[in-house]
Amino acid sequence: MDLRRRSRRATLALLGLVPFAGVAAGVARARDYTARRISGGRWLCPEDDCGYVYDPAKGDPTQNVPPGTALEDLPEDWVCPWCGLPHERWL
Ligand SMILES: [Zn+2]
Repeated sequence: MDLRRRSRRATLALLGLVPFAGVAAGVARARDYTARRISGGRWLCPEDDCGYVYDPAKGDPTQNVPPGTALEDLPEDWVCPWCGLPHERWL
């Protein structure tokens, strides 16, 4: 009987903690993986340690992206040239 009571308490603790952790992770992911707009209409790679800046005025010559291509108009298979983060993670 003592065992059963203890296990129910553990279950209640899990029910309280797991949804909270899920929400926290969702918030962190949303913040981490959206490109930040910086000066000059440029975009900073969402990957924390990357530092690559996409400049729509210049495009990305390494992936045949012509100058004047907006971030949202980049090809679907475009990736960050420095860290490889997929295009969809920038938006
Ligand atoms: Zn990057």
